[in-house]
Amino acid sequence: MSPRASAAPPKPPFVTRKALPKKPKQVGRDVALEYIRRLEATYPDAKCSLDHNDAYQLLVATILSAQCTDVRVNMVTPDLFARFPDAAALADAEPEDLENRIKSTGFFRNKTKSLLGMAHAVVDQHRGEIPRTMDELTHLPGVGRKTANVVLGNAFGINEGIVVDTHVTRVSFRLGLTRATDAVKIEQDLVKVVPREKWTLFSHLLIFHGRAICVARRPLCEQCPLCDLCPSSLVIPVSASGRSTAGKRR
Ligand code: SF4
Repeated sequence: MSPRASAAPPKPPFVTRKALPKKPKQVGRDVALEYIRRLEATYPDAKCSLDHNDAYQLLVATILSAQCTDVRVNMVTPDLFARFPDAAALADAEPEDLENRIKSTGFFRNKTKSLLGMAHAVVDQHRGEIPRTMDELTHLPGVGRKTANVVLGNAFGINEGIVVDTHVTRVSFRLGLTRATDAVKIEQDLVKVVPREKWTLFSHLLIFHGRAICVARRPLCEQCPLCDLCPSSLVIPVSASGRSTAGKRR
């Protein structure tokens, strides 16, 4: 037997865990800040995935994005915005015509009601301009806190809250940033550890990460830049001494 064949195989740089923990350990603000720093480096182009040129377009696109992919919404909106370029034009739309134009985004009857209700309210109560406050936005038909946060953060640059969608819910839980499952409580936990000027960006970072690596079915922890800090990681880096370094900063 050659010396090469008898040599012990090299130890892997990490140990593995079979399943995600049901209750990941909570992390503090210093770890949250390090998450943000690394995610910003990993996703320098993280931004809103809904195509838009102004607040009206973003509001319409966000309403359409309920239970639908952003890619699908972006296929529908160019024609829609050409036909209805502002809230006044949308308020005059025939419901059937609107339904046909947005059918492929799903739930098109409810979405048509929301779009028409929103457009009428914007015309009647805000002189056709999309309002810039959480209170005014959430009083528009079909507009909840999540939609309002999207518009305030991305169209107006106002960090009023953090958008909590399915990716933000899953990834923030795995990262130990929250134990809540309700969107309002998750947002309350996140705003405590994320600096306000990063609120809008932060949700884009988690959404990008949730799509690329921390996917729903089985996260790709071995490719994750946060795996040495994340309390849910399926791969736990091992230091040169053979001890796990999980939970410690690099
Ligand atoms: S290590 Fe990364 S991919 Fe794995 S659970 Fe944590 S955040 Fe998700």
